[in-house]
Amino acid sequence: MNKIFFLGECMVELRAIDDNTMEQSFAGDVYNSAVYLQRCFPGIKAGMVTAVGTDALSEKMIQKFHHESLDTTFVFQHKDKVPGLYLIKTDAVGERSFTYWRSDAAARYLMDFLSDDVAGLFKTGDALFISGISLAVITPAARSALWSLLEQLKSRGVTLIFDPNYRARLWSSTDEAITAFQRAFQLADIALPGVEDLEVLFGISNAEAAIEYCQSFGIREIVVKNGPESVLTYANGQLQKHPITPVTKVVDTTSAGDAFNGVYLGARIQNRSISDAVQLAATAAGTVIQHPGAIAPAAAFRAAMVT
Ligand code: ADP
Repeated sequence: MNKIFFLGECMVELRAIDDNTMEQSFAGDVYNSAVYLQRCFPGIKAGMVTAVGTDALSEKMIQKFHHESLDTTFVFQHKDKVPGLYLIKTDAVGERSFTYWRSDAAARYLMDFLSDDVAGLFKTGDALFISGISLAVITPAARSALWSLLEQLKSRGVTLIFDPNYRARLWSSTDEAITAFQRAFQLADIALPGVEDLEVLFGISNAEAAIEYCQSFGIREIVVKNGPESVLTYANGQLQKHPITPVTKVVDTTSAGDAFNGVYLGARIQNRSISDAVQLAATAAGTVIQHPGAIAPAAAFRAAMVT
């Protein structure tokens, strides 16, 4: 059976419950997508490609991957590093802010583990998802190894999927991000950008322009997200606009795009049409934003999804 892998970083998440208590969980864009895909489509095998440490929280993270039924073939344990961590703080009016400790996280050193032998373990027909965050967290010195890995996988018939997910603070300059994203777009078979991500870097301010931009790289399937606005897709010469029903009670938009990506890709792997896949993905994203944090409770999520 073919598998879909999600390459990047999963972090330890801390959230203050009161002055003396923190709730601890795990999150990260690619991990969130993998979890939602796997929860919706148990018949597909989704896996993580990441590096963690050998510490207690890393062990707990790996257990969590297993608990979410994710493949851990490509989860590596760095003997000297620990996972990144972030703290969510909510102020008196409910505005959230994030503090990160991730500048020397194990995941930054992922390429140390991804030798040519490892590339050989991927099979024709497998898929690999990377995001702009994955690109940013890999140390700049190791990024050329990542490009050659992606090129090798592409030539082996692995489908490459890219969501730019731009986070300015992870890049030393906009030029660095532009160069990396253009290279990723060149390699991608499927792209799932958000309009916002392309605005700062490429001056693209609407979904139509985002499609055109991705088309210039010859990407075969393009899905443009635009918050509560409609989703625009392009594939097989067909441009389609998909309406989104806005959620009235938004609690926390964290990981809306990640949930969308995971469920969309799962649906497409199961040969659902693009419009069915968008509707399922939008239902998933709309459910996730009605719960706090990146990962909605499994029971509530499954109850909302009729796949
Ligand atoms: P990101 O989280 O990457 O910024 P978006 O904000 O574009 O992504 O949202 C991703 C998807 O989440 C949208 O395409 C839509 O399906 C869903 N979504 C986001 N905001 C809302 C909303 N207010 N109501 C309903 N669906 C939403």
